[in-house]
Amino acid sequence: MANAESKSSLIMLGQSASQASSHSLEDATPSCWSCGTMRAVHFCSSCGKVQPPVPVDYFTFFGFPRKLNLDTAALEKEFYALSRKLHPDVFGQAEEQERSWSLEQSSMLNDAYRTLKDPIKRTEYLLRLEGIELEEQSKQATEKARSTGELKKQVVPPDLLEEVFELNMHLEELRAQKKVGEDDPALLEEIGRAKLPLEEKHDALLNELKSEWNEWDELVDASAEAGANGERRKILDKMVDVLNRRNYIRNLVRDVNEAMEN
Ligand SMILES: [Zn+2]
Repeated sequence: MANAESKSSLIMLGQSASQASSHSLEDATPSCWSCGTMRAVHFCSSCGKVQPPVPVDYFTFFGFPRKLNLDTAALEKEFYALSRKLHPDVFGQAEEQERSWSLEQSSMLNDAYRTLKDPIKRTEYLLRLEGIELEEQSKQATEKARSTGELKKQVVPPDLLEEVFELNMHLEELRAQKKVGEDDPALLEEIGRAKLPLEEKHDALLNELKSEWNEWDELVDASAEAGANGERRKILDKMVDVLNRRNYIRNLVRDVNEAMEN
């Protein structure tokens, strides 16, 4: 359990990564290396030559605003179009340099696509851009927790305390039984039943997350600056909270499934 909990929590990092790494498309894409006119992220819009990769975020890579309600059909279409254009075979006769740029661009394209098409990965990625790191990915947080000996925060969803408690009891019982080689079908059945509300909550939390997306996107549309920082942070914090609760349930259900299978 302790393991599952520590993996599930998200923490805040002080500085906003977006402030440090935000590149406007124009800053990030200087002149084409070949013809000298204004280039685009992947290809020169004038001569069509593939361009060296630039450090833009995945939203910018696809030309999308940094919003969470994303047109996944448009994303997929753009992904396949770019995949074809960047395919290494296309650059078989090209200069070594161009071929290697096309490979780098292809790999960024794949990463960007995989991240943006998945609703949870997309949300976590946006949070990262906004300076909020997943705890399991944050070495800094892990080292800090280790050096201070402090326990990472537990995020049992408050409305599921009873269910979680019950499931954990069953889980202990099951593990104890397995240890002595016993098999109790009634217990397994009970665990299966106890899992249901958690699985339902897991799905419901995705919808809760999506309503936070709407708030975020409205804020982006309003492009409210300084004054809205508090509001911005509030929405991001709520998304972190939803993800924490969802991860907690996911890990618990996974633990239960593992215990039942072994
Ligand atoms: Zn060009």
